Amino acid sequence: MRRLSMPGGRSIAVLGQGTWNMGEDPTEQQREANALRLGLDLGLGLIDTAEMYGEGGAEQVVAAALAGRRDEAYIVSKVYPHNAGLRAVQQACERSLRRLNTDRIDLYLLHWRGDVPLAETFAGFAALKAAGKIVDYGVSNFDRDDLVEAHASAGGAALAVNQVLYNLARRGIEWDVLPWCRQQRMPLMAYSPLEQGGMLGHATLRAIASLRGATPAQVALAWLLRQDGVVAIPKAVEARHVRENAAALQLQLGSEDLAALDAAFAPPRRATPLAMR
Ligand code: NAP
Repeated sequence: MRRLSMPGGRSIAVLGQGTWNMGEDPTEQQREANALRLGLDLGLGLIDTAEMYGEGGAEQVVAAALAGRRDEAYIVSKVYPHNAGLRAVQQACERSLRRLNTDRIDLYLLHWRGDVPLAETFAGFAALKAAGKIVDYGVSNFDRDDLVEAHASAGGAALAVNQVLYNLARRGIEWDVLPWCRQQRMPLMAYSPLEQGGMLGHATLRAIASLRGATPAQVALAWLLRQDGVVAIPKAVEARHVRENAAALQLQLGSEDLAALDAAFAPPRRATPLAMR
């Protein structure tokens, strides 16, 4: 697995697994945990979750998947903005740790910017880090202006990643957010890398996939993974999907594939507000 350095000096895998929509239906939890475990077997140890997903249910699925295998995994979780106050964030983290059945979260993110002053949230993150309850912290859904402000706030220089919506059909961040992150050597974590499945029927993706003996999802992931500084976290419950996604690491796109993708999914020509789910 290729890895990227983060500003604090530790590194992160470029491909992981998402968990949004997991932990919502009790009858599906076993299948969801099995999918995450299969991913782990295939080297996808980075697992992205949040207190929001299934209102804690997804974190419990992660705990079930990691039973006896915590040290093979790298857990990313996120705090709601309304829980991001100095004391509240520490309490929210304790609740996540209990649901995850672990003593540490590897990367803890502010899910999106809310009303709590950033320096207060970062002070809460720093206290959690000092106590060994989180290893690194970062942000999610931060546009360039938010990043600049965050980075200049007390505790902001330690931000390890920014997690944002990024895929072939959502390229706005290439204008300003991605260059800023690269300049800081801060990995950008691409969420909804498959546009939740919505772009996989696109004729160009299908044509390249068929030429390369791959699937449209693998082409979409390979396009992200070929870029410097980008981490992708596709979510998959179907075992076939988990296997395909793990194998996307081996797919190399050629310059003619990249040109065809640029023609079909145009890069941005001006700054646009950050897209979010
Ligand atoms: P996604 O990963 O783009 O797409 C997930 C969908 O694609 C599921 O329906 C999945 O089906 C399907 N799929 C997965 N692999 C496939 C393959 N190889 N071929 C065909 N279909 C495939 O969407 P996402 O869940 O929105 O994003 C990924 C993760 O990013 C989330 O789970 C979450 O952890 C994170 N996220 C973060 C934020 C944020 O605000 N920070 C927002 C959204 C998402 P099956 O499940 O049936 O296999």
